[in-house]
Amino acid sequence: MAKPNKIYSVLFNKCPRCGQGDFFITKSAYNLRNFDKMNRYCSHCGADFVPEPGFYQGALYISYAFYVAFMVIFFLIFVNLFREYLDYFLVSIIPILVILTPLFYRMARRTWLALFIKPIPSEEQSS
Ligand SMILES: [Zn+2]
Repeated sequence: MAKPNKIYSVLFNKCPRCGQGDFFITKSAYNLRNFDKMNRYCSHCGADFVPEPGFYQGALYISYAFYVAFMVIFFLIFVNLFREYLDYFLVSIIPILVILTPLFYRMARRTWLALFIKPIPSEEQSS
């Protein structure tokens, strides 16, 4: 198998090092009880998902970037396609952002870890 793809790991809840093990324990971001529970180590390659205490504070900046990027894109879609409904932009953006919060929370954590972990091709992984 080729080198694990970081984008794939971020989008599909996989370990950024091997691309095999799950990052969060649940697949769904909308499992209200467990959506924020992470595995401590990768079940496949043993990568440490919490390299140091407070590691994920930096993920705040990533999720902030996601929110901003999403709002800009959403706004551009509105301006270009639904200009006559622009009043609804502010009304709709808030519930949409609330709904997206768990998704962005999880994506931000995976992105943050992926920035610091180098992917390793699966044939090089020991045991
Ligand atoms: Zn792994």
